[in-house]
Amino acid sequence: MKMLLLLVLSMVAVAREATAQDAQCVRERAAMVETIRAYARSDTSVLGQQGFSDRVLEAMGQTKRHLFIPERSCSIAYADRPNPIGHGQTISQPFIVALMTQLAEVAPDHVVLEVGTGSGYQAAILAHLARKVCTIEIVPPLAEAAAKALRDHAYDNVSVRLGDGFGGWPECGPFDAVVVTAALGQPPPPLIEQLKVGGRLVMPVGPAYSTQHLTVVEKIASDRTTTRAVALVRFVPFTRSQN
Ligand code: SAH
Repeated sequence: MKMLLLLVLSMVAVAREATAQDAQCVRERAAMVETIRAYARSDTSVLGQQGFSDRVLEAMGQTKRHLFIPERSCSIAYADRPNPIGHGQTISQPFIVALMTQLAEVAPDHVVLEVGTGSGYQAAILAHLARKVCTIEIVPPLAEAAAKALRDHAYDNVSVRLGDGFGGWPECGPFDAVVVTAALGQPPPPLIEQLKVGGRLVMPVGPAYSTQHLTVVEKIASDRTTTRAVALVRFVPFTRSQN
């Protein structure tokens, strides 16, 4: 009986702590969204006068980034900085996540592919905006942890697959948008093939361990694309499986 009481009391304490942290995170998350909005307003070279759409800012405001980083700290999670997620990988700074999401132009009926699941945070943002998200991660423990975080927080429209995303995920497509969060010299041709006509691929294009161009490839016909470089970025390398 005493044991049970102690257990209940400690559960209440844990729940209280989680609620207090969540309340703090609400303020810090709102401040993060304001930082992102203000940055787009002050520099219109990337998104033009219109800046971010309300839908993208809402998704950024609703998605709990602290649940996807190892420290789970509000102040670390909602600063506009990249964070290490283990295994030599990083989760992009919130502004870049918002920018890639904006450039992907995701609509509620869309099916989206992400290559480079990492923590699962970008997939969660996309899941707020799209009908279905398929995401591929090459590092097994990251794929497992992201799948668990997404499952635990009821992101039921996201499927996580372990593997090399170079070949895409044909059974999940065709895709209205593809977001690649690791840098490579050229967009993988299978990803362009799996895009619908009218769809777009957003990825950092350029050499590893250097700056790359955040690039938007639009599929304007089954055999034609247009490409534009939007901003300079620095992403972790796109790696290839050995087999
Ligand atoms: N989108 C992630 C950040 C990813 S960092 C987030 O929101 O947290 C880039 C990720 O791409 C890393 O986890 C890395 O392991 C993964 N990656 C690199 N090459 C890959 C490949 N060929 N296929 C799938 N994932 C890859």
